Amino acid sequence: MKEELSILIKAQYPLIYLVTPEEERSEQAIAKIAQNHTQHQKVFIWTMTHGMVEYGQTRTTPQHNTISPEAAIQWTIQQREPGIYVFKDLHDFITGAGVKRALRDAIASFKGTEKIAILMSPIQEVPIELEKDVVVLDFPLPSMEELDQVLENQLGKIRGKRPSPETREKLVRATLGLTKDEAEKVYRKAYVKANRLTEDEVEIILSEKKQLIRRNGILEYIEEDETLEAIGGLDELKHWLRQRSNAFSERARDYGLPQPKGMLILGVPGCGKSLIAKTTSRLWGLPILRLDMGRVYDGSMVGRSEANLRNALKTAESISPAILFIDELDKSFSGGTGSSDSDGGTSSRIFGSFLTWMQEKTSPVFVMATANRIERLPGEFLRKGRFDEIFFVDLPTPEERQAIFQIHLCKRRTEIDRFDLSQLATMSEGFSGAEIEQAIIAAMYEAFAQDREFTQLDIIAALKATLPLSRTMTEQVTALRDWARQRARPAATSSAEYQRLEF
Ligand code: ATP
Repeated sequence: MKEELSILIKAQYPLIYLVTPEEERSEQAIAKIAQNHTQHQKVFIWTMTHGMVEYGQTRTTPQHNTISPEAAIQWTIQQREPGIYVFKDLHDFITGAGVKRALRDAIASFKGTEKIAILMSPIQEVPIELEKDVVVLDFPLPSMEELDQVLENQLGKIRGKRPSPETREKLVRATLGLTKDEAEKVYRKAYVKANRLTEDEVEIILSEKKQLIRRNGILEYIEEDETLEAIGGLDELKHWLRQRSNAFSERARDYGLPQPKGMLILGVPGCGKSLIAKTTSRLWGLPILRLDMGRVYDGSMVGRSEANLRNALKTAESISPAILFIDELDKSFSGGTGSSDSDGGTSSRIFGSFLTWMQEKTSPVFVMATANRIERLPGEFLRKGRFDEIFFVDLPTPEERQAIFQIHLCKRRTEIDRFDLSQLATMSEGFSGAEIEQAIIAAMYEAFAQDREFTQLDIIAALKATLPLSRTMTEQVTALRDWARQRARPAATSSAEYQRLEF
């Protein structure tokens, strides 16, 4: 992406919008590009506090009367020499009529002059009037090499043994996805806590990183203690996942295998879709980040939602290989392409950006999405090749129900011989895994209130008192099944159950 910035500058794009929270790093990159450019453009930086100041000069010597953004833009128009004019945080002013007009004048006058304006801001804010003239670029988060330099600086300041190359790589890898400042802070904090920087401190760094990622509010670092064994049934799906345990390794690349892109798990609510997604993180040994689409949408300003999505995807990419988990994809993107009227087109733009990202991503981010309602899911997601596989998780078969009872009883009691699992499986026809778990909990509450141990009969009573979703939502479940039978792969081998469980 830095190369792209360099290309845009060399190609004399008059207006570039650089989205980044890292001012210093991006200023340095711009200065370097300008230096290497044959035209040797001077770089000027504008802030609302100091006006226009030449890069590298002290901030107390602004060019005349360039504090106001309009005046600063006018000033750039008057310059005769080639130059790169970086405006920091112009997003706060950019919707003003004067600023918009001045920028359009500047764009017109920059043609063929080796003059370029770069709007540098952590927030993308492009008024419609400028949309056609501006190129938006995300400044990339620091690479492994850059982070290694941050660690090197930190190690230079502390006493003690230097880490081995392997430890060093782990320490650096742990900070991937952070800005340079953030990485510096977490190294400092880890050092202050442990008084050293060794492999043992990787955990401290990772937990700090989780905090930082959480703070941005759109991605959530999920920690899941359960393993695939905590899921009853779904053998086909589990097999598929196990087969791909090392799919992101160098060995798989050398073997000539493509990187898995993602999977969509469709299914009846409460049948373990989210659980299986979360346990995959442990199975594959990759971090899993939940993308909260509800938080991506931000109607406070035009372009804010798109910027949120871009930032979140950028963070996921920077810590890849990783799993990006999107629960309820049907709700997240139900707007799809048809909703442009209701929200000024934001949801269709977000949807478009997400699809493009999925299509073009080269970094190893595996998308794991779940959905309950097929009719709300935009058809584009279901097209062949978008996901590696679409699985359908149906209501559990009797054998699966038995396994689910066993798992949840074993979680709560060490001795479960007194339960007749086969009878429980028969009594719970039409129940989802979540409903089976709830029936066990309800039985326990009942017995606990009577100050005794819970029994088979308590569970049967709880099952009888429950009206499972499959009966209250018969139509939806049948529609989903009909659809899935044609187009998705069953998550369990016993697909004959489709027929048997017909409502
Ligand atoms: P929703 O569509 O409502 O989000 P879901 O299909 O994602 O539902 P989960 O959230 O994964 O379902 O399931 C809820 C809980 O039900 C799980 O945390 C687990 O305790 C239990 N459960 C569901 N299915 C199974 C299963 N096959 N084996 C064991 N437990 C299960």
